[in-house]
Amino acid sequence: MTHANDIQRDHLASALELAAAGVPVLPLRAGKRPVGNCPACTGNMCGGRPNMKTAGPCQCPRPCHGWAAATTDPAVVASPVWGSAWKRAGAVAYCPGGAGVTVVDLDNAAALAWARKSLPSTRTVPTTRGEHWIYRGSMRSANNVRTGVDIKSLMQYARWLGPGTGTMTRLPDVVRALIGREETTPARGEMVSSLNRSAAWDATVATGCRHTGRYVRTGLDRGVAMVRARTESGAGSQAYGVASFLAKQHTVCPGPCGLDAMGQQIIAAAVSVGVPEAYAARAVANGLYGPTALGRVS
Ligand SMILES: [Zn+2]
Ligand SMILES: [Zn+2]
Ligand SMILES: [Zn+2]
Repeated sequence: MTHANDIQRDHLASALELAAAGVPVLPLRAGKRPVGNCPACTGNMCGGRPNMKTAGPCQCPRPCHGWAAATTDPAVVASPVWGSAWKRAGAVAYCPGGAGVTVVDLDNAAALAWARKSLPSTRTVPTTRGEHWIYRGSMRSANNVRTGVDIKSLMQYARWLGPGTGTMTRLPDVVRALIGREETTPARGEMVSSLNRSAAWDATVATGCRHTGRYVRTGLDRGVAMVRARTESGAGSQAYGVASFLAKQHTVCPGPCGLDAMGQQIIAAAVSVGVPEAYAARAVANGLYGPTALGRVS
């Protein structure tokens, strides 16, 4: 019994350590799969979490929605509802893309031999049958890009098996190329720098907001991160989702809440991952104020 309790405490302890280092974590069941959704979240009836592929309203306190439940918030990780999941957990998992890394999961000896002659060396972590090769940088995830090779990064989880050994190197093109479709190259031109110059949201512009500056800034930072994470596709619709999610937080504020300044930051984030500025601006305006063609339903 003592032994089992030690293991449970170890899962929670390493999860909290990872979260403190900015790595979003979640518990896995004994079968190394995420815990199932609670009844309210079955089949995404709740609408999904805001950080899912399609942003949703779910604020469920349980670790529902697989990788999308991964969090760096120590209050969530150590909460009583997550506590019961840690008690039954078989492993700690993390969202590699959320931590800004990509795991090349090499599942057998042949895959490992291929990696050794084809991929640049980086940090490696031994797994049951092979190794995780961890690169700095995130990308879209895909299973079976070659026999025994999975790419685990954005919108995916990987088992945490320790920090591994070796120096982490930058995600190389040869790994990006393993996923057939072409990745959007982030636009790092003048437009981005001009957008970056636009005023960031500041509590002084939100004279009629009923929320604390910290609350608004946290939500905005999270939203900007979600848009930036969509390096492959969907950044425009993510920007719309984030904008409408943020706007909903202020529907009962007397205002002004500085929604325009928030919008500028979301637009800049979308442009930085390749969304044309006009498209990003339209998506964000629709999210903040409702589709102009339909008018605002209040
Ligand atoms: Zn739930
Ligand atoms: Zn839910
Ligand atoms: Zn407000």
